[in-house]
Amino acid sequence: MTLFDLTGRTALVTGSSRGIGMALARGLLEAGARVVVHGRDRSSAEEAASTLHRSTGGETRVATFDVTDPSAIEGGLVEIEQHWGGIDVLVNNVGMQRRSPFLEATKADWDDLVATNLTSAFLVGQQVGRGMAARGSGKIINIGSVQSQLARPGVTPYSATKGGIVMLTKGMCADLAPYGIQTNAIAPGYFSTELTAALVADEQFTAWVADRTPAGRWGRVDDMLGAVVFFASAASDFVNGQVLYVDGGMTAVV
Ligand code: NDP
Repeated sequence: MTLFDLTGRTALVTGSSRGIGMALARGLLEAGARVVVHGRDRSSAEEAASTLHRSTGGETRVATFDVTDPSAIEGGLVEIEQHWGGIDVLVNNVGMQRRSPFLEATKADWDDLVATNLTSAFLVGQQVGRGMAARGSGKIINIGSVQSQLARPGVTPYSATKGGIVMLTKGMCADLAPYGIQTNAIAPGYFSTELTAALVADEQFTAWVADRTPAGRWGRVDDMLGAVVFFASAASDFVNGQVLYVDGGMTAVV
């Protein structure tokens, strides 16, 4: 399927040393891209990169920088470009969660969530977008959440950042489409990863997820692969500024 073929493309998936990001990296490798595996902790990123290389046979590199630090981002991107040239596909996947009732949430929690989940996509998107614009093509995929559209008690700052991802995606579409760049978002439902480990272990919450999700189960990271390959490939060349919910139907029903 040449429409979905990523041979010769270079992809950076932020936060791909585990969880959803690691699965997205695997999907891109399986479609033929070479992939930069990223996180802050070097040894976990290296372990993930070699696991991915072994399982797919694809080419991987490791980059470690904090996506909340503009100068670290710049240094990390220069290093990638020196070795592999320009980035063709950027997945802004890094995200964090802090749970507390709204009245108890601290400004420090708010600031960390906004910096990690939203400002990071602006900063990395802008720096990578400049190179894509100069080359006249590129694919940017921002990772949202069902909380991009639906609120829940106890995660209000997180929901605000994920709502922001939707409008960041549409704004980037408006500004970057003239340069041949498509920016779209994938919004996962409830997936079993390290970020949600406490919820997966909570029997009551797991029963709620099964009941609230038409598919009747937690998402598995492999459920994300089709969406990321679609948005990274020529198959989506006329799709721009969209949000695709990969949520087992959760946002379609009340
Ligand atoms: P994980 O916590 O499992 O993984 C997070 C990744 O991001 C790790 O690779 C981590 O590596 C890296 N990371 C975290 N902070 C930074 C930082 N400041 N700079 C650089 N790297 C960083 O997350 P998930 O896989 O669960 O989530 C991935 C994305 O999907 C997030 O945007 C999340 O909001 C979203 N999502 C997840 C859902 C779920 O059910 N799991 C549901 C909906 C959305 P290191 O610690 O070494 O830095």
